[in-house]
Amino acid sequence: MAKADLVIKNCHIVTPTTTFSGWLAVRDSKISALGDDDSPPVAQETIDGRGHYLLPGRVEPHIHLGVHYPFDQDVEQTSAAAIAGGTTVMMPHNRAKASYLEVYPRWERSIAEHSYCDVVIHLQIQNRQHIDEIPLYHERFGVLCYKLHLDYRAPAVAELDIEPLDDGDAYLTMKQCAPFNGLVALHCEDVEIVRYTLPAIQATGRKDLQAWSDGRPAFCEVADIHTMAYLSELTGCRIVVLHLSTADGVDAAARWSKVPPVLETLVQFLTVFPEEAGTRIGAIGKMNPPLRDRANGERLWEAIRRGAIATVGTDHIACEKHETDDLWSVTAGMPGIEVALPLLLSEGVHKGRISLQQLVQVAALNPARLYHIDDRKGSIAIGKDADLVLVDMEAERVVSPETTFSKLKTPANGMTVKGWPVLTIKGGQLVYREGQLLVKPGIGRVLRSYP
Ligand SMILES: [Zn+2]
Repeated sequence: MAKADLVIKNCHIVTPTTTFSGWLAVRDSKISALGDDDSPPVAQETIDGRGHYLLPGRVEPHIHLGVHYPFDQDVEQTSAAAIAGGTTVMMPHNRAKASYLEVYPRWERSIAEHSYCDVVIHLQIQNRQHIDEIPLYHERFGVLCYKLHLDYRAPAVAELDIEPLDDGDAYLTMKQCAPFNGLVALHCEDVEIVRYTLPAIQATGRKDLQAWSDGRPAFCEVADIHTMAYLSELTGCRIVVLHLSTADGVDAAARWSKVPPVLETLVQFLTVFPEEAGTRIGAIGKMNPPLRDRANGERLWEAIRRGAIATVGTDHIACEKHETDDLWSVTAGMPGIEVALPLLLSEGVHKGRISLQQLVQVAALNPARLYHIDDRKGSIAIGKDADLVLVDMEAERVVSPETTFSKLKTPANGMTVKGWPVLTIKGGQLVYREGQLLVKPGIGRVLRSYP
């Protein structure tokens, strides 16, 4: 057998179809061999997995960069948090007012210089110029996915420094993306309804986290899913319903079978519920769409089990928030990329809601497939990049800024979580081990989606 650069032995290897005890070999940064026997090849470096579980690096389909910190700094801190949490690919929904022909190359350089992760950039549509230039973005940069914030319709953007978007923009974007089988990713939330429901709750004087959820009811998300799924069917353009928060939304999407909407939910919709966690996390839990209740969360887990939900992201936004911040004035959105995999292991696998196979599908393989990088990423298979995370399934700790790498409060703050990364490998290189990054930033690249 050919000599390997790296062997990880004595571990449970998790693939999308099975888990087996054995070893994995890496050569030239790719997975070169797998075995279930006791005789791995000779390697320059051998790691004893000590009976832990070896998973593919998590593929994070949805984050934001440069919102509350300068872009370069955010690339570095967010990708470091990702690596510490076993995530090796992250996908920001980037935005700028200028043409992306101008801005995209700058982002590419910043990521090459500052990132620990590989990155797929999704582009947010901000204006008509962006819509017109979509074919160029696809041709020049290979960008597959274009996002529209339907919560930025006219009633919602008065105080934000952005142009309002409407259903016409969504329709035009779909028409532009359909010819190359692109994806239109949507924040589905009908803010024309929210403009009535939210002030009505605020007027009661409530400041509890649940008030935010009550002010942005589930049917606002469902209403937009139907509208967008109908436009998707008309144009033949595939849509991704981002951060799907409601189980009713799963049922709504299922009614559109000609061009089935792809569903992404978030870790926090599966694991954090305002009626239970409201006093623990307070304003940290404010986000759009809002957190929903546990009964809804259980239905989302069930949708994952039957394959109705394709991917699980975090919508991570690096920001410093505190429990006691004022609900109505604090920024919406929360960090979470570092604790995503541990939460899915703890609340999903350990509590019997999903299997390890279902986990690696929704957390790695499906997002890699959806965004056309599964020729290199997303599963443990010979020939793929050796992006791996070794997990101690029995390690248990209470989440806090002191026990996590990024030091930012997340919605999991105060939760006891079981199942943590011990080490992370990217491209066959050991990059993180037990609380320490072992390399300097600049090992990540922007990935081009295959056509
Ligand atoms: Zn987002």
